[in-house]
Amino acid sequence: MPFELPPLPYSNDALEPHIDATTMQIHHDKHHGTYVTNLNKALEGNNDSNMSIEDICRNISKFQVAVRNNGGGHYNHSLFWKIMKPQGGGEPQGAVRDAISSSLGGYDKFKETFANAGTTRFGSGWAWLVVGADRKLAVTSTPNQDNPLMDVVEMKGTPILGMDVWEHAYYLKYQNRRPEYIAAFWNVINWEEVNRRFDEAMR
Ligand code: MN
Repeated sequence: MPFELPPLPYSNDALEPHIDATTMQIHHDKHHGTYVTNLNKALEGNNDSNMSIEDICRNISKFQVAVRNNGGGHYNHSLFWKIMKPQGGGEPQGAVRDAISSSLGGYDKFKETFANAGTTRFGSGWAWLVVGADRKLAVTSTPNQDNPLMDVVEMKGTPILGMDVWEHAYYLKYQNRRPEYIAAFWNVINWEEVNRRFDEAMR
């Protein structure tokens, strides 16, 4: 079965004013849509085992570079839409809050570390909050459409929060001001979904 573009779980304008409707529409329909189309093209005749996108990422070194770029793009954006929501943000609750306190020095310190990971990622890429093999939380970033599931990245883990810092994620509203987009991102985080992913990763 070919991969499909998942629908946005809210309307294009739901994250206004933090992320504008035009950016959301182009980002989801065109950018993510193209990753899905090109992933399916790259996999034609090469995914007989019907691997999940997660398993493809975990074994990405065995695939051609088009699968790494477009498969990463599909996995990353599928996660990204879900870890945001209208009227999101605020301080994390539950198990993630405790884990952020014990592994990352608390919410304020985590915000600083995560924002810094996004700001200093040169060019295009992602900042991540991951559960590592040691079952502790860590912050990392990856270039292009790589992600911490991939067997080729330096710091591996299970992503529970990801922030897209490609210019296409913010340029229409924020132009070159990536730090302003990152500051706005805190207002749209869906901490319930991050907690759900945390629980799943810790199982
Ligand atoms: Mn993107």
